[in-house]
Amino acid sequence: MRYIIDHDLHIHSGLSLCSNDPEQNSNRILQYAKENGLKTLCLTNHYWEKSVPCTSGEGFYKSQDFEHIKQACPLPKESNISFLFGCETDLDKNLNLGITKERFEHFDFVIIPTTHLHMNSPEPSNFDPKYRARLWVERLDAVLNMKLPFHKIGIAHLATFLINRTTRENYLEALDSISNNELKRLFSKAAILGAGIELNQDDMNFSDNEADSVLRMFKIAKECGCKFYLGSDAHHPDWFGDTKAIFERAINLLDLKETDKFIIQ
Ligand SMILES: [Zn+2]
Ligand SMILES: [Zn+2]
Repeated sequence: MRYIIDHDLHIHSGLSLCSNDPEQNSNRILQYAKENGLKTLCLTNHYWEKSVPCTSGEGFYKSQDFEHIKQACPLPKESNISFLFGCETDLDKNLNLGITKERFEHFDFVIIPTTHLHMNSPEPSNFDPKYRARLWVERLDAVLNMKLPFHKIGIAHLATFLINRTTRENYLEALDSISNNELKRLFSKAAILGAGIELNQDDMNFSDNEADSVLRMFKIAKECGCKFYLGSDAHHPDWFGDTKAIFERAINLLDLKETDKFIIQ
């Protein structure tokens, strides 16, 4: 059976500083779910635990601690829709994770972006696509080597433009510079650990001639047995507009089945 769009596990509300939009609230997010027939939602505001030293966007994360994002709770209830409480933490330039092991039990789901290179203050000034590809490998490897509850972890936006935001060409070249062998090694590990691999709306919004570069990693992840979840990464209500069409196209291009779906355990 073809992969069904019945969830969105990466959504921000106005509590994320980069949203700061009162219109982007739990009820509006629930409305999006109802309009699109979604059964599972997860609120994933940006979060960094206060007790963890932070070299990743220090100012940005300062106020986005647990007490701050917890303000969203209790989340509104709706029959047939499961509205989960999660977060999007981060990995700093020293490969420290912004969440403690004890904190995982407070969340239904935690997404970890290994590709927020712009948040590593200062951002590495080397934009050589091959160097950026090495960072991509090193940072994903670091997370997969941690002892974490991977059954409730999603690896967020692996193909984001933030890998190399100089030009679209450099971005695509960075993606192309990650070897098949490295991808196979990392995604085999992710599959065994049971981590979800995110199909992010913005990553999937590529032009037809970019499809091979962007999708190669996800095709290999699928071959390795990884499971996938969808994430709009919406920060404002109007970001929900094209979500369904973008995901439909990605599902078709990757030929995803229901058996390829990541389910939070
Ligand atoms: Zn954000
Ligand atoms: Zn996000």
